[in-house]
Amino acid sequence: MKPLESLADLLLGACCPGCTAPGLGICQACLDAVNPAPRVILDGPPPVVACVGYHGPMPGIITAHKDRGATWLTSQLGQWLAHGLGPAIAAAPGHVDVVPVPSSNRAVRRRGVDHAADMTRSALQWLAVREATMARLLHRTRQVADQLEVRDDQRGDNQRGSMRADPGRGDVIVVDDVRTSGATADEACRALTRSGWRVLSIVVLADAATATRWP
Ligand SMILES: [Zn+2]
Repeated sequence: MKPLESLADLLLGACCPGCTAPGLGICQACLDAVNPAPRVILDGPPPVVACVGYHGPMPGIITAHKDRGATWLTSQLGQWLAHGLGPAIAAAPGHVDVVPVPSSNRAVRRRGVDHAADMTRSALQWLAVREATMARLLHRTRQVADQLEVRDDQRGDNQRGSMRADPGRGDVIVVDDVRTSGATADEACRALTRSGWRVLSIVVLADAATATRWP
């Protein structure tokens, strides 16, 4: 880790990203509130699995990781993601490539990190399974706005035609951080399918698309 990053991490870590209470890291109340419980939020095909709800401390935690460079959260997010990714990998008929949705180009340039890929790598480390490897098969073909900052009726247009996939054959699982309208995952599936891959499922960390309440 670069010195400046670790300093920024330390400063950001001086309050809980979930509730802004003073202290180092995520506070116990926020950890207790997250309670990962993977569930199918869309039958598909491909089915969409979410690990936690996008409420309580999650918006603050995800924003800190994504937009404020709080890389010290990667391992915790990876652990929560593993709750949904593990069963999805177990359900695959054989080896599966786990494909993170690439961040928008501008965001990656600004932060120098790709949060979905970092989270996916961490989840696979937690799971320690041999049947799955991360593969960065998706690439952005143009800049897009963050889906959380785009109006509902414009999310499809924002994502449409914005990704391409490396050509190949085999089974893949797509991973993203937050599901809003589903337009990002739809675009990822379109690009992968057109390039020869079979998308078995989509695993998102947090569901902001349905009214499902997590316990
Ligand atoms: Zn908190």
